[in-house]
Amino acid sequence: MNLEPLDRDAIHSGNISQLCEQLATLSASSLNDSEWPSERLDLLEQADVYRWFIPHHLGGLEWESTQIASAYVELASACLTTTFILTQRVAALRRICASDNIPLRDKLLSGILAGNKQATVGISHLTTSRRHLGQPACRAIAKDGGYVVTGQSPWVTGACGATHLVVGAEMPNGQQILFVVASDTAGITIPKGFNLIALTASQTGPVKFENVFIDSSSLLTEPAEQVLTVSGLTSTGSTQTSALALGLATAAVNFIEQESLHRPDLLESVEALNAQQLALKARLLELASGVTTGTNEELRTDMNSFVLRTTQASMAAAKGAGFVEGHPAGRWCCEALFFLVWSCPQAVIQANLCELAGIE
Ligand SMILES: Cc1cc2nc3c(=O)[nH]c(=O)nc-3n(C[C@H](O)[C@H](O)[C@H](O)COP(=O)(O)OP(=O)(O)OC[C@H]3O[C@@H](n4cnc5c(N)ncnc54)[C@H](O)[C@@H]3O)c2cc1C
Repeated sequence: MNLEPLDRDAIHSGNISQLCEQLATLSASSLNDSEWPSERLDLLEQADVYRWFIPHHLGGLEWESTQIASAYVELASACLTTTFILTQRVAALRRICASDNIPLRDKLLSGILAGNKQATVGISHLTTSRRHLGQPACRAIAKDGGYVVTGQSPWVTGACGATHLVVGAEMPNGQQILFVVASDTAGITIPKGFNLIALTASQTGPVKFENVFIDSSSLLTEPAEQVLTVSGLTSTGSTQTSALALGLATAAVNFIEQESLHRPDLLESVEALNAQQLALKARLLELASGVTTGTNEELRTDMNSFVLRTTQASMAAAKGAGFVEGHPAGRWCCEALFFLVWSCPQAVIQANLCELAGIE
């Protein structure tokens, strides 16, 4: 599709409306919801989006966390799939930037800044996935100045589009390692992503490891019992996950608002949802700016509730037409369910279950 060249100066100064419009256009014109969205990801590359997350001293634009949270809401409202893939790449990027392994950090960052390297993450088995099984999903044995890794990282988004993977594994002594590995390394298999009920285009699925040798120089930090917390980064349920939920909810509320222009019966609901949207956005920005009036988990719990309610409200407003495949309301309802399972701390799952079960 022929699109206007992006106004990079406007984007650098924080105006991302043209980028969002183009993402929405490409998303609406995509014939196949399961195809890897390379054209949309190219747009992010052209817009220098990855540099928002990189500190100035490492060659980035170092956007404020509130600016990033607002941008995530806008991007997710335009195309949740692309924005979700972005978050997983950014999760890898943040871990690389925070690494105390400076030679590794600088080598990877120069490739990412030049646009010829992309990394994604497979770390949830260290926190929220497969924890009940009694044995680690991905195991590491120390050997010959490195580690031999076997098993699988059960959930990795967009491994097919990544040159590198940031992955965690556990050792028999209970310590964990966090390493970077090229995705074409011998012993690594990347099967086709799962058929999901939404976001299939993100190409999410397991990455398998069979006796893959990881040199110690590929560790992002020293082995530790909770390796993801060493760098001080949040591992699950961060404000960015809430920003994406709010972005999807915003798309649904905008739709109901549009319908209400010629359907007065929808006006009361639109007014209530708009007020809740504003209040949640204010809480998101307060949390992102470090003003601690609540916790990430409380916000994520309320965002999950809001995204489920607004998307279902869009279905009610769209009536039977919304239930026909191809109408966005149906897609939004399925996408909203994603927030019940993705990067969701146990406390949030528990609170959402209580709400769904009607427990005060
Ligand atoms: C679309 C999508 C994309 C994702 N992308 C990424 C990514 O890029 N990187 C990443 O690191 N992670 C990613 N995740 C992982 C995500 O953040 C969560 O970790 C994951 O959704 C947790 O689900 P699970 O099925 O692995 O949980 P599990 O806890 O392993 O549960 C699986 C099943 O085990 C059983 N079970 C669960 N708990 C218990 C128990 N206590 N006792 C007995 N049985 C139990 C239940 O039958 C359950 O259905 C992604 C997830 C999704 C859905």
